[in-house]
Amino acid sequence: MARPEPATPVPELTNRDRARPISIMDLPPSELLPLPGGPARVEWRRSPRARRVSLRIRPHDGAIIVTLPPRAGRPAGLALLRTHAAWVSDRLAALPSAVPFEDGASVPVGGVGHLIRHVPGGRGGAWFEAGAIHVAGAPEFLRRRVHDLLRAEARRRLSALAAEKAALGGLQARRVTVKDTVSRWGSCSADGSLAFSWRLVMAPPFVQDYVAAHEVAHLRHMNHGPRFWALVRTLTPHMDAAVSWLHEEGQSLMRIG
Ligand SMILES: [Zn+2]
Repeated sequence: MARPEPATPVPELTNRDRARPISIMDLPPSELLPLPGGPARVEWRRSPRARRVSLRIRPHDGAIIVTLPPRAGRPAGLALLRTHAAWVSDRLAALPSAVPFEDGASVPVGGVGHLIRHVPGGRGGAWFEAGAIHVAGAPEFLRRRVHDLLRAEARRRLSALAAEKAALGGLQARRVTVKDTVSRWGSCSADGSLAFSWRLVMAPPFVQDYVAAHEVAHLRHMNHGPRFWALVRTLTPHMDAAVSWLHEEGQSLMRIG
């Protein structure tokens, strides 16, 4: 994700700032700010390692994340937002539309649209039935239940795929988990644990197949060198199609739910 360089330098500390050490407590965690393109949610982050004020757009919900280095305050963040107002509104306008989990919404599962149907009278839970997602219980729990169902389905599908790819490559994953990551689709740790974004459950099967093959290949090569890519190709026939699908469509999955 692009991080624009700040146009304004980080201001020096004032005496008032010096008297009271700046801490995360000085910042609201988030606030709704009027920007030229309309009101936008801004989340403030404090990073001890940041060297300058930076901002990025979180694709999932369109929030603007402003990261401040230790010596910068909210005014420095506001200044950066002002000077990058056009960039911010362009990025927000370019985000795919949001699809919240609610009664009547269509959510892709394995790339196929599934209607969410609320069953008010039923007992708690959510399940797949006849190409739809049925959700029982009180409406305020619907979103969480759909989320839990898709997360469990993601774990089921990706664990099976990872086991299949590992067997194919003579490899073994220590364990497979699903996470709510927004910056990557999968990861492989040095101890052989694989993790996948639950959002992959919404992608077509050939994309799931490729991401599983990719992470399993990291069990042998913890890099993206030629031998790694050669191994990925032996584990999946879908590499090129999946890479371009993720490039073209991947961000849209971040705006669902
Ligand atoms: Zn990789």
